[in-house]
Amino acid sequence: MQGMDESSELTEKINEAASPTSYTFKGLFSGIFFALAGYVIQFNASSVSWGQRSFWEVIRSFHMSNPILYLLDLSPLIFAIAGALVGKTHQEKMAYLNKVRDLLKEQREQLSSLRFRHAELFEKTDDCLFVTRLDGEVVDMNRAGMKLLRIDGLFNPPPTSNEELCRRLKEKGITAQSVYSQRKERDRVLAALKEKGIVSNFEVKLKRFDGTEFDALITLTLKKDLIFGRIIDLTAIKRVEVLLKKANAELEKKNRELVKALSELQVLRIQDEKHRRELARLNEDLRHANQLLAEMAITDGLTELYNYRHFMQLLKKEWERAKRNKQDFCALMIDIDHFKDFNDRWGHQAGDEALKVVAQTLKSQTREYDIIARYGGEEFSVIFPDTTLATGYAIAKRMIEAIENKTLTMDSKGQKVRLTISAGVSAFLGKEEDPRSYAQVLKDADVALYLAKNKGRNRVEIYRSDLFTETLKDPTLSKPPSHDGD
Ligand code: GH3
Ligand code: MG
Ligand code: MG
Repeated sequence: MQGMDESSELTEKINEAASPTSYTFKGLFSGIFFALAGYVIQFNASSVSWGQRSFWEVIRSFHMSNPILYLLDLSPLIFAIAGALVGKTHQEKMAYLNKVRDLLKEQREQLSSLRFRHAELFEKTDDCLFVTRLDGEVVDMNRAGMKLLRIDGLFNPPPTSNEELCRRLKEKGITAQSVYSQRKERDRVLAALKEKGIVSNFEVKLKRFDGTEFDALITLTLKKDLIFGRIIDLTAIKRVEVLLKKANAELEKKNRELVKALSELQVLRIQDEKHRRELARLNEDLRHANQLLAEMAITDGLTELYNYRHFMQLLKKEWERAKRNKQDFCALMIDIDHFKDFNDRWGHQAGDEALKVVAQTLKSQTREYDIIARYGGEEFSVIFPDTTLATGYAIAKRMIEAIENKTLTMDSKGQKVRLTISAGVSAFLGKEEDPRSYAQVLKDADVALYLAKNKGRNRVEIYRSDLFTETLKDPTLSKPPSHDGD
C-alpha cells in the first residue's frame, strides 16, 4: 500500500512538471534569455558607441543595422509557443505511459495470482507433476512426484526446495528419461510426443529411484523446448483390478452354482409335481377302493342286494323314522319254494344263478326308496317305507307273479324251468302308535311267511290278516317301476 502511495505521488509530480503551462513558462524564459544573449553578443560584436544616446535609440540603431534582431525580439514568444507544444506532447506521452504502467501493474497482479494458484495446484495434487527440458533435464517437480519416484532416498540430506532438487539431479546426471523401465516404451512415448506435441494417458511401466517398478499413466505436453508432464500411479488401481477380477471370478463361480442349484430345484420341482400327481392318483384309487370296500361291506356278493347286517340297520332306522313321524311301513319276508330240490336237480351253481335272477326280478318290482336285501340262504327281505299294509300286500302279490312268470333256461338243450316264492307281510302301524319293536315286526312277517308255506306256497300271507280285512279291500297300486339294467 505504501509503495502504491509513493508511486502515485511521483506520478503526480511528473504530471505537474510535464504540464503545458510549465513548458510554456520554461519556453518563455528561455526565449527571453536567448534574446538577451543575442543582444549582448550583437552589442559586443558591433562598433556602436553609446555616446549621448538613450537605451532605446541604441536598440533602434541595432535593429536598423540588422533586421534579424526583430526575430530575436520575437524569440520569447516563439520559445513559449514551442514550450507549450512540447509540454502538450509530453503530457500526452505521459498519459500513455501511465496507461501502460497501469496495465502492466494489473498484469503483474494477475500473474502473481496465477503463479500462486499454479503453485497451489502443483503442490497440492496427488499426481506427480514435472517440467523437463527436451534432453530430460528436470526443471521442476512437485512433492508428490518426489514421493512417488522415491527421489528423497537419493540425497542425504534431502533437498529443501524444488530448485535444489533439480540442481542436484543435474549434478548427478539423472534425467527424466531414466524413469522408464523399458527403453522401447520410452522411445515410443517420446516419438509420439515429438510427432503430435501431446501424449495422453499412455500406460507405461516406470522405475522408481529405489529400483522398484510400477504401472503408471503418463501424460506429456510439449511447449517450445519444455515438456510438461503428469504421472498417475496405477499400483492401487491395478491392485483393485486384481481384486475385482478375483471377485468377478468368485461371483461367476457363485452364479454357476446358483444356476446349477436352480436347475436341480427345477428337476426336484418336476419330480415333486410328478409325485404329487402320483399321490393324487393313488388317493383317488384309495378313495375308489374305500368306496368299493364300503359297498362290499353292505352288499351281498352274489345277488348285489343289501346284506343282512345292513338291512337290519336300515330297518331300525326306518322303524325310528316311522315312529317319530307317525307313519306306517311294511316288512316283507320272501322264501324260494322247494329250493333244495332245485339245487339237487340242477346243481349248486345253477342254484346260485337262479338266486341272482330271483333277486333282480324282485328288485325290479320295488321302488327307488324301498329297501331290499338278501336275508340269508334263499330268503329275501323287503321294507316299504311310508307304505300301508294294503299296498305292501299288493306289491308282494305282484312279486310272486313276476317270479312265477320268469322262466329260467337251465342247460344246453334249452330246458325251461320256473320257480315260485312264498311271502309274508307285516305292517308297522305308526299312525296307531304300534308298540312293537322292529325285530318283532320282522318276526311277524316271518310268521306270515310260514303261514304262506303251510297254505301251499306260491302265495303271500299277512300277519294276523283278520285285523285288517277292511283296509285290504282295494289296494291302489301304481305300475311296477322300471330299473336300470332290468
Ligand atoms: P321250502 O319250500 O319249504 O322252503 O323248501 P326248501 O327246499 O326251499 O327249504 P329248505 O330250507 O329245506 O332248503 C333251502 C335250500 O336252499 C337249502 C340250500 O340248498 C338252498 N340254498 C340256501 N342258500 C343257497 C345258496 O346260496 N345257493 C344255493 N345254490 N342254494 C342255497
Ligand atoms: Mg328257507
Ligand atoms: Mg325255501
